[in-house]
Order: sequence, then C-alpha cells, then structure tokens
Amino acid sequence: MNTSYKERIARRLTWVTALIFSLVFLLIYLVANFTVVRNIDRELQLEVDKHKGEIFLVDGKIRFLYLNEWKQMEHTQLQLNPIFIEIVDLEGNSMDRSPNLGENHLTFSPEKAKAEEAWTQKIGSREVRQRQIPLLNAGKQEGYLLLAKSFEDSRELLDNLRNVLLLIYPLILVSLYLSMRYLAGKSIEPLEKISLKTNLITQQNLNERVPETGTNDEIGQLTRAINSLLGRLEQAMQREKQFTSDASHELRTPLAVLRGTLEVLIRKPRSAEEYETKVKTALVSIDRMSAMLDQLLALARVENGKNLVKEELELITFLEELADKITEEQAQPIQFQSLVGVPIYVATHEKSLEMILQNLLENAVKYSQPGGEVILRVGKEREAFIEVVDSGSGIASEYLEQIFDPFFRVQEALDHGIPGTGLGLAIVKKLAQESSIRLSVSSEKGKGSTFRLDFNETS
Ligand code: ADP
Repeated sequence: MNTSYKERIARRLTWVTALIFSLVFLLIYLVANFTVVRNIDRELQLEVDKHKGEIFLVDGKIRFLYLNEWKQMEHTQLQLNPIFIEIVDLEGNSMDRSPNLGENHLTFSPEKAKAEEAWTQKIGSREVRQRQIPLLNAGKQEGYLLLAKSFEDSRELLDNLRNVLLLIYPLILVSLYLSMRYLAGKSIEPLEKISLKTNLITQQNLNERVPETGTNDEIGQLTRAINSLLGRLEQAMQREKQFTSDASHELRTPLAVLRGTLEVLIRKPRSAEEYETKVKTALVSIDRMSAMLDQLLALARVENGKNLVKEELELITFLEELADKITEEQAQPIQFQSLVGVPIYVATHEKSLEMILQNLLENAVKYSQPGGEVILRVGKEREAFIEVVDSGSGIASEYLEQIFDPFFRVQEALDHGIPGTGLGLAIVKKLAQESSIRLSVSSEKGKGSTFRLDFNETS
C-alpha cells in the first residue's frame, strides 16, 4: 500500500506518543492508588492502636474499658467515613459487632492477622480496607478484633481519575495525529513543489532550475544539489552536442576535399601524372579521416572502459623500453632520464599509461624542429612522476586549458600544416582521469613544453 510521507510521520509519532502516554497515565494511576491506600491504612492503624487498649476478651466475655464512650462512638451509626468493628473468638465465630455493619460480617483471616497487613474486600455492597488483630488476656490469645474502614471515597476518587485518563487518552492521540498530519504536510510542501518542477524539466528546457528557497536547511541544500546536478547535465549535454558538431565538421572537410578531387578527375580524361597527383591528394584525405576515426574510436573506448584494473608496474624498465620503441617509430631520438637509482613501482593500468605517453611523445616530436631534444624523465618526490619535455614551439598561456578540449588545435599548428586531429590530448586527459593520474602542463611560447604525470598514493 502506498502511504504518503506525511501520513507515515503522523502515524509513527502517534504510535510513540501513545506508548509514552499510556506509560505515564499508568504511572499516575498507580501512584494515586498507592497514596490513597497508604493513607487509609495509616488511618486504620490509628484505629487499631486506639481500640487495642480499649477492648479485651476475658474468659470468653467482652470487656470495654470505656463502655459509655464505646456506645456513643462513631461506629454505632452509618457515617460518611465510618469504622466497622467486629469481635470474634479464635475460630472466627462472631461475638459482637458494631451496629453500622447491619446484617454483614467482616471476613475472618488469621493469616492476614499474622502478617499484620490490611486488605481490601467487600462487605455487602461496600468496599472496605480491613485489619485483624489478636485480642490477648494476660498474654494468652482469646480472640480477634476485626476493624474495617470504608474504601468508597477513595474508590470513587480512583475511578474518577481512571475515567478522566481513559477519556483524555484517545482525545490526545486523535488531536496529536491530526496536528502532526497537518504539520508534516506543511513541512513537505516545498518537496512537492521541487518534485513537480523537476518532473517538468526535460532535455528541451534543461536550462530551467528549481526555485531556490534561500535557506540553508535540508530543503535548501536539496534544491541546490538538484540545481547543480541540472547544471552539470546541461553542460554535459552541451559538450556532447559540441563534440558531435565538431566531429561532423572535422570529417566533412577531408570528405569535401575527396569529393572535389574526384569530381575534377571525372570531368575529362587526364594524363597519368595528373591522375597520380589527384589520387595522392584523395589518399591524404582518406588517411586524415581514418586517423580521425581511429582517435574517435580510442576516445569512445576510454569512455566505456571505466574501472580499469590496475597492476604493479616498474616504471624505469617500462619507460626505457617505451622510449626505444617511439625512437624507432618516429625516427627521432627520445632521451630517457631517471632521477632515481632504484626501481619505482606504481599501481596502474599499463596499456592506458602507454597510450598517454605515446600521445605526449608523438606531440613532443611533432611540435619540435626535426632533431630537437625530447626527454622522457622519471622521478620520485613524495610519489612517482613522469615528465615529457620538449624544446619545440611551446604553447601560448591562453591556450594551455583549451588544448585538452576535443578537436582544439592551436592556429599555428593548422597554419604550418602539421598533421593532427585535435583529439590526442583529449584522450590523454580522459585516460589520466580514469587512471587517477594528475596531468599538468607548463609551457613557454618558442621555448618548449613539459607535460607532467603525477601518480597519487592510490594509483
Ligand atoms: P593534435 O596534435 O592532433 O593537433 P592534440 O590534442 O594532441 O591534437 O593537441 C592539441 C593542440 O595542442 C595541438 O594542435 C597543438 O597546437 C598543441 N600541442 C600539443 N602538444 C604540444 C607540444 N608538445 N608543443 C606545442 N604544442 C602542442
């Protein structure tokens, strides 16, 4: 069953309050009961003390110390809070009793007499507290004096208290439940507004935001969290759109060249040399497109291949071999330098690290004069680091952030016709992120660049 949140809050609070109130009310009733009974028992004890010295049993006969007083005493009539008295022999046979008892007798209980305690019972229709004390004659027990005091007033008080408590108990719970429901409803009103607004936001109006409350409470924090999520989503969507449009644009250029070249070729018969030149131009366009598609595929693979498995790798041997391999491929010497004399171990994904360094080293060669110095350096400060240093064209400081964006190429690279897709550093950045490697660059226009990879403690 789908119970609303405010309903659940109200119900839970009501349950807890019901439990607390029932315990408190029970305690109030028990304390009142205990106090009332104790007071009656005290009065009964006073009566016991008084009558113990006034009534005796001598050889089976009752003797009163103050007979006249006894006859005028309260227990002759039915008063508001009367005392009932009965004298019995050892077997419990009644010998005399106060007139206010009428036809009734008090209960005989030698065990209670021994325990010297009072008990509650009924005589006729009346409820009383009773005591039973032995009557002694010269140290020998000859019977019992039974004394009882009416419990009616106290019972009425206790019953009234119980009724009031039983009546206000459900009243408290019902009013608490209703006010809790109302207050809970009021408190979650902003949440309902937030979900209403969030439901209306789609891909088409991703620029809209949930109205902020301006407070720093939980609702304010939730609103800000949702808005910042929307902001990130919007940016991601924009990047996605930008990427798709850039990719189509980049592919369109070589395609247009290819189409133009082929159109020119079929217009009229050409000489063998002309055919060769045009086909070569077409092949360059095809190479450019296939290089770009390779890079796009590589980028897509990085994005899909989250949670790369890391393994321990010894950097010095690995980098030395890599430097040799790139030297052969690029036909340009890569100098390897190790700043420490002992092996350096890191936990990393070897293939990703290789791809990162391959891109950085190829760029270092590409953007340097032929024969320019390219260094692959490894060292350890607090953690291991790798640097790719070149003394090539360098990058102007305003482009240092942008070079990692997909398809971004510095105009100079375009002007000088240096081949490239603008995707290499975007791939490097993604791979570094996936491998938890910190990537940074420092560069000076005309002097050269240094790309640095810092392994953190967990990498
Ligand atoms: P690509 O090299 O294919 O153009 P990258 O993403 O690898 O694409 O590089 C982006 C841009 O950053 C390059 O076009 C170039 O202008 C600049 N760049 C990258 N590496 C270097 C470097 N070592 N020296 C100078 N410029 C560089």
